[in-house]
This record gives sequence, structure tokens and C-alpha cells, in this order.
Amino acid sequence: MSAPLTPGLYIVATPIGNLSDLTARAADTLRGASLILAEDKRVTAKLLAHVQATAPMAVYHDHSSETERMRILARLGTEAVALVSDAGTPLISDPGYKLVRAARAAGHAIHTIPGACAAIAALTLAGLPTDRFLFAGFLSPKAKARGNVIAELAAIRATLVFYESGPRLGESLAALAAGLGQRDAAVIREISKLHEETVTGPLADLAARYADAPPRGEIVIVVGPPAEQQAASDEALDEALRIALATLTPSRAAKDVAERLNIPRKRAYARALALGPAS
Ligand code: SAM
Repeated sequence: MSAPLTPGLYIVATPIGNLSDLTARAADTLRGASLILAEDKRVTAKLLAHVQATAPMAVYHDHSSETERMRILARLGTEAVALVSDAGTPLISDPGYKLVRAARAAGHAIHTIPGACAAIAALTLAGLPTDRFLFAGFLSPKAKARGNVIAELAAIRATLVFYESGPRLGESLAALAAGLGQRDAAVIREISKLHEETVTGPLADLAARYADAPPRGEIVIVVGPPAEQQAASDEALDEALRIALATLTPSRAAKDVAERLNIPRKRAYARALALGPAS
């Protein structure tokens, strides 16, 4: 029998597949809470049954109304309220940040009960550098918006982590290969489940593999950082462009320099336009 929970908001991570990954502390918290906020009550009901937690549930989303949030805040002073998502760590591509912000502003205690997170688990499987990484969530299904985000991420010297679904995997990998060039990557599927799988290779190879063969299940894409040469500094890029612009149009100069420095053409072209014609 564990000690009763003090009042406040408890952010409780839940498994992303294997139920045994629920921590003992998470199970105690779910049993001790007097209200459990969930994304989908049917999904969370299974977990609660697994740990014999009987507290009532309420649905919570970041687009829940202000009135709904106020109703929750009113209970935090005297009761332990747990927030869970369908799977993994709440707030990571899941609801919760508005509630945490409001609870803190109102002076309530906030506790996190750490546990499974697909992004972190995928990083441990990918075999790519983990000293710096950027979690980029889900890419847009719209080609233009997706391309813009990828162009923004191209110059960042860090491993990139994306959440994805099977049907969209091929398109996203193709867009990543087009926008980021030749980089090592990993497609990690169904972590901690029966069909867990990690497939690694250059982005273009992964894009070809999954182009007409969308896999089943939940997926994380991990993309290694740009090669040193690819991450050419702005100074090096400007210098190369100034020389090229003396004899070439911005478009031609950008193409040549992008190929030479192994950087995305979009980045070189934007800089070429900013620098203007050589004087
Ligand atoms: N909050 C969750 C977390 O901590 O990872 C993520 C929620 S987000 C709405 C769901 C996405 O996480 C899925 O589309 C998939 O990209 C990834 N994901 C969740 N479980 C996974 C698993 N077992 N294997 C691979 N990816 C998973």
C-alpha cells in the first residue's frame, strides 16, 4: 500500500506497446488519483483495468474549453489529478501543455512520472548520433508545408526525429530525401510490440523501399545530422556564392554551389538572392 498522493497534477507516462513498461510509480499514481484525464477513455480504460485503478475518467485535450480547464484547476488544490495520453509521455505530440501552464500559473503542484516515449526509444535503436537531436513531431501531409519545414531543418546540425504513420511513410521519406540530401536514417516501427523492426540506410534507399510498400503500425523516422561538409557555414556559403555570382545568374550559381558544398539547393538559392548580383 503506497502513501496517499498529495494534491496536484500528475503527468503520467504510459506504455507505447508493452504493458509491462508501465512503471511501478505510474501504476501507484493511477491507483491513487481521484480523477484521470485521458485523450480517449476507451484506450485508457484498458490500462486502468490492467493496474486495477478505479478512479473516474474525464476527456482532456488542449482544445478543451477554458471552462473545462478551470473546472480541472479547481480540483487540483485538494485532489490528485492524473493526466495520461493514449500511449507514451503526455505533452509529446500529445495534449497537456496548456493545462500544465495553467496549473503552474495557479500555483498548483505539478509532478511528472517519467516513462516510455517513442522518440527517445527510437533514438536508442537508430544507431545515429544522439548528442544533439531535434524532435520535429509529425510532418505535414501537404507537400508545400512539408517541404518548407524540411528546408528549415536542413541546416540544423542535429539528428532529426519525426513521428509518422504507415500510409504516409513513403511520401515523407521521399520529401526528406529530396530536401536533406544523402543522409543516414532509420525507420523504426512498433517499438516494444510483437513486430518491432528497425530498418536503417541512406534516406533515398529507405524512400525507395517504402514507396509502394507502406508498412503497418506506428513509426518513428530518425535522420542523422548533415555531414560536416553539408553543414557548410553561412560564411563559407556566402563566400562561394559571391565568387559564383560574378559570372553566373543567381539560379545557376546556387545550383553549382549547392552541388559543390553538398547542401540543399533551396538554401543556396535563398542566399544567392539575398546577396544580389556581384558588384
Ligand atoms: N506521446 C507519445 C510518445 O511519448 O511517444 C507520442 C504520441 S503521438 C500522437 C503518436 C506517434 O508516436 C505515432 O504516430 C508514432 O509515430 C509514435 N509512436 C507511438 N508508439 C509507437 C511505437 N510503439 N513504435 C513506434 N512509434 C510509436
